[in-house]
Amino acid sequence: MPIRGRIEVNQLHCKGCELCVMACPQDVMALDMEHLTPKGYHPAQLVAEGCTGCAICAIVCPDAAITVYRETPQKTRATA
Ligand code: SF4
Ligand code: SF4
Repeated sequence: MPIRGRIEVNQLHCKGCELCVMACPQDVMALDMEHLTPKGYHPAQLVAEGCTGCAICAIVCPDAAITVYRETPQKTRATA
């Protein structure tokens, strides 16, 4: 089962620079062109399935606006 990830973008810090969008190896990020942050930028967001939780987006973000969560698959317990 593939490792799944998800991200949260802090709208107070994101300035819509798109560095994370360009760096994402899964190409699952984009700017949200329908919303503005309190500072008036279009924030980055996850737009598709396939995030692996690699955290490259968080590493390249100059404003530390991204928190990455990785979901580890639940092990199925064998039953007798
Ligand atoms: S954690 Fe990795 S795969 Fe997920 S959005 Fe960020 S760069 Fe893309
Ligand atoms: S790199 Fe950071 S500041 Fe730039 S768009 Fe992505 S989350 Fe926003």
